[in-house]
This record gives sequence, C-alpha cells and structure tokens, in this order.
Amino acid sequence: MARLSYQGVDKVFSGDAVAMRDVTLEVEDGEFMVFVGPSGSGKSTFLRVMAGLESPTGGRVLVDGVDVTEAEPQERDLAMVFQAYALYPHKTVRENLEFGLRMRGMARSRRDERVTRIARTLDIADLLDRKPGQLSGGQRQRVALGRALVREPKAFLLDEPLSNLDPALRLHARTELARLHRSLAATFLYVTHDQEEAMTLGDRVAVLRDGRVQQVGPPMELYRRPVTRFVGSFIGSPAMNLYRCRVVRSAGVRLEGPGFGVEIGEAAPPGLADQVWLGIRPHDLTRVDTRPADFVGRVELVEPRGSDLLVQLRLDDESEATLAVVLPPQPEVETGDEIAVRVSRDRLHYFDPEDDTRIE
Ligand code: ADP
Ligand code: MG
Repeated sequence: MARLSYQGVDKVFSGDAVAMRDVTLEVEDGEFMVFVGPSGSGKSTFLRVMAGLESPTGGRVLVDGVDVTEAEPQERDLAMVFQAYALYPHKTVRENLEFGLRMRGMARSRRDERVTRIARTLDIADLLDRKPGQLSGGQRQRVALGRALVREPKAFLLDEPLSNLDPALRLHARTELARLHRSLAATFLYVTHDQEEAMTLGDRVAVLRDGRVQQVGPPMELYRRPVTRFVGSFIGSPAMNLYRCRVVRSAGVRLEGPGFGVEIGEAAPPGLADQVWLGIRPHDLTRVDTRPADFVGRVELVEPRGSDLLVQLRLDDESEATLAVVLPPQPEVETGDEIAVRVSRDRLHYFDPEDDTRIE
C-alpha cells in the first residue's frame, strides 16, 4: 500500500513539449485516483514520472513520504499496466504471470500459490496453459493485469488499460477493476481520456489540460461545481451547453446570448462583468408550455436514448447556435417542432471570459 505524491513537478521534453507544469498532488493510500484529459494533456507522462520511466525536469516524486525522484523504477515497487499490454506470445498464461516472480528468484511453491490465487481472482484459472494467441482481447487484458497483481506492488499505475476492448467488454472490465480495487485496498493511479470511465471508477478524478491539473475532486463535485470552463465542458455527458453572453443591467440582470435572453435577477453572482460564459447542462433543462421561457428553439435532431431523448434545438439561424436538452421520452418530439425550455437559476454555471475560471 502506498501514498503517492507529486511536489511541484515539471516535465519539459526536448523540443519544448511541456507535459507537466508545477504539479502538486497527493494520492492517498488505497485511493483510486483517475487522471483524465484529452490526448496530449500529459496523462501518460504523469504516470511515467511516478513509475520512474521519465525523470522530471523539476520538483519531487515521493512514495510513502520517501523521495524517489532519482530512484530506479524497480526500486519503487510500483506496477505499471500499459494500453498496449505486451504479453510474451510464446509463453503460456502461467509463464507470463510468473515471469517477474521467477526473475526475482521466488521459490516455486510460493510462485504457484500466488499465480493460482490471482488467476482465480481474475477468473483466468482455466486458461493458465494457453498461449496469448488463444485468448480473447478481454482475457489478454486480464492476464496483463494479473501480471501486475502477482507482484503485489505498493501501487498500480494503469495507462488506458481498457481502451483496446470492445464496448461491452470494457464495461465488464470496468466493474471488475472496481471490485478488484475494493478487495485489494491498493492504491490505483488510472489514466483514461474517457470522462465516463473516470467518473465511474475514481474516488477522486484529476482533470488535466496542457500538463496542468485543472481540478481534482470526487466525481460529483467536478460535475456540480466545475472550477473552469474546460472542466465544465469536459466532464458530463451530453456535454454542457456554453454560450458567451452579454450582461445587460436594467430593471434586473439579463444575460443575452445567441438567440436567447435569460433574466437572472436576484441570482446574479456578484462580480459579474459585462461579458460572461454561461453554462447549462442538458439534464438541467425542463420543457414548459407557458411563455416566456428561457429558451425557445426548433428541434433539429432527436436522439432516442432509451430512457430519455437527447434533443438539439436550433436557437438562432444566424449564429447557428444550438442547445442540447435531455427530455423524457413522452411527449414525443419531432424534428421541426418548436419547443420552450426553462432552467432553474441555481443550476446555472458562470465562467469568467478573461481566464475561464468559475464565478460563484
Ligand atoms: P497523453 O497521455 O495525455 O496523451 P502525454 O503524456 O503522452 O499525453 O504527452 C504530453 C505532451 O508531451 C504531448 O505534447 C506530447 O507530445 C509530449 N511528449 C510525450 N512524450 C514525449 C517524448 N518522449 N518526447 C517529446 N515529447 C513528448
Ligand atoms: Mg497517453
């Protein structure tokens, strides 16, 4: 078990690519921490620096309070699982699993005992004599995980380990991982570009952009209170609607965006300048019959999602602004219908147009 710390870590590659910028973060013992962000945001580098596969250009990395910045990977006792998990093709599953233990000179009886136990946990016990070529993608995935597990490391570092699996299997593997984390009570550092995966797996989620941690917190906190416009747009599906609005003060306060105007009156946050980014989640909008409504638009697209409908409303022809709304499956909605929706004022998100930070 391990507590992992980044203290003011920078990583600049030759050629000036900045993969980590002044990263300070504590991962608690036994915590499932997810790094999520778009491609190139630094996710893999965060893990590789912790694993010792890259050395930081500044700052320190600690395991259980011990500075390991200069330590070799094998001294850190952390197991890393990559997206492209390379199993030895000519070795059986058993040989793949025990290879690391053999290299460490562990006695055969202990090795067998561990391999058997881990194989049972991962439900691959009856595959031990097969070669990787005789396994499905999901089974190979589990063997790769098993190879990390048999080492009983202090922590697991996983870099997009599920992204090679087909969607159904990915869902299953996700459940397995969560279960495994609970039963092992080990520290997990997990990288994904998939915000849904991040939300469902993480005790906490760190949202990365351009090598910086934009926000770190429990999944629902990121969803309810994104501290930047980027986090607001990245976390949550379907994505948050965002509009740059003019703040008009007359009798009350009114936000004017493309094809709409929303009175916010009392709900106006202090410190609002004359421009603001307005964010509204598609789930926070409700259809209304009475006018005036907050938004009125013509239905451009209806995506039935089983339990609900995802509807795109065209708000304004000139700017082609649209609003995504999640509506119940009844009453039916058809392309071309005119629909009015409202949003509760306490569900509005405001971001500063200067620096994209949240305005409370
Ligand atoms: P992610 O895993 O989020 O896609 P990476 O950590 O792989 O992001 O990369 C972060 C940034 O660092 C990118 O701009 C990438 O091009 C750069 N980078 C990563 N590895 C290297 C490397 N070995 N040499 C030079 N630049 C790199
Ligand atoms: Mg990566």
